Amino acid sequence: MINIIVQKTIDSLNKNNMAGFYVDSIAALHEVIRSLIHKGETIGCGDSVTLEQTGIFDLIRAGDYRFLDKHKFGMTHEEKQEIYFQNFRANTFLTGINAVTMDGKLFNIDGNGSRVAPIIYGPEQVIAVVGTNKIVSSTDEAITRARQVAAPLDAKRLGKNTPCTKLGKCIDCKHNERICNDFVLITGQFKKDRIKVVFIEGSYGF
Ligand code: SF4
Repeated sequence: MINIIVQKTIDSLNKNNMAGFYVDSIAALHEVIRSLIHKGETIGCGDSVTLEQTGIFDLIRAGDYRFLDKHKFGMTHEEKQEIYFQNFRANTFLTGINAVTMDGKLFNIDGNGSRVAPIIYGPEQVIAVVGTNKIVSSTDEAITRARQVAAPLDAKRLGKNTPCTKLGKCIDCKHNERICNDFVLITGQFKKDRIKVVFIEGSYGF
């Protein structure tokens, strides 16, 4: 059963012209994702531990889609750059989100902007998969969560030498490998339901 906090967050997203879904299992998540994309479509994606953990990348690879797969082994920097530009013309862009506020806003930190840029503009639809652990009560809490929880863990995952990978917290470094360059709060959409947030019960991603 959907809990009151998730329902309130979905209602708030709706008021901001974004759609919200709730699932309580990975199988149900796959069903929702399959229902939102169509055969032959071009699918882009951002880096996302949540998408990895929930098997969404594998679901897309196994399906009848044109997947702009930035994780292919041996891909060159130039090939990745090309995919980043193609993402803007994708039918669907799949992503995680660092935090979702109960008043229906999405907050993300990004390093080079290749994840947040297509969320903001380009793809016909954006599907964000978000563990219920990412729901927060306010924008301030979203920023704190993203900076003090998500970014240090992400820096570690990426093998960066930034201070947070040793300290386990953000000290707003000026390190040349700093991954926190873009702080993006999305508060609404012109096109209704272009952004769809699928909440999955449990703790996923950072
Ligand atoms: S600003 Fe620096 S210390 Fe803080 S999370 Fe980002 S990379 Fe780590």
